Amino acid sequence: MNPRLQPELFDDAFLIQRLFALGLKGVNSVESHQNCAVMVSVTSRGVLRIHCGYAYAPDSVLAAIVTFVKPGIRRQRRREAEAAILAFPVDSFAPPRPRRRRRRPSTRPGDRSLVRRLAALHDQLNARHFDGGLARIPFRVSRRMRTRLGELMLDAADRPIEIAISYRHVHRDGWDEAEQTLLHEMIHQWQAENGQPVDHGAIFRKKARGVGITPRAMRDVGHSPTSS
Ligand SMILES: [Zn+2]
Repeated sequence: MNPRLQPELFDDAFLIQRLFALGLKGVNSVESHQNCAVMVSVTSRGVLRIHCGYAYAPDSVLAAIVTFVKPGIRRQRRREAEAAILAFPVDSFAPPRPRRRRRRPSTRPGDRSLVRRLAALHDQLNARHFDGGLARIPFRVSRRMRTRLGELMLDAADRPIEIAISYRHVHRDGWDEAEQTLLHEMIHQWQAENGQPVDHGAIFRKKARGVGITPRAMRDVGHSPTSS
């Protein structure tokens, strides 16, 4: 069957339905996107972000995605799943760009001093709490994040891509609170860089206590997306 002949069948809801029918586990929700740089990623909040072109993929490729994000999967099986995911020519199937183009969020020029300050703070906290073992990572100040305070983005191989911090959070709650949020995301970065699951389990909590994180920053605040 040529899926291009039946585009109405291949919308996001159907893609997500197929993933769950194939046994998708270990994620809280699924979002599709059209950012070709990252085909499949899982955020620190367990949101599976998947390129919308996979709506056109056969079950074998979707099954590879399900395997890829399954908790506790062996490295070798994960690598095979990754190869199957990346082998699907997502670009040639992706639907034409919608009328309202979704721009890739980026830091506003006026917020770049905030990014520099976060990067400097990351260096300090890295030296103080992680023996300088964390990689330097790009930062983004997001004016779209309203309920979320911060987020670590991972690529398909679970490597950290960037840390996003909410502009609103920094301005509303102040720099001390933003530092706590940064530390929270740095613990997720530390988990990812050490091959651990990025979650809020026992290892996270132990490390959080070790770095003196405040109880409020132990858990993510505001899971629910806003419509604004
Ligand atoms: Zn978290």
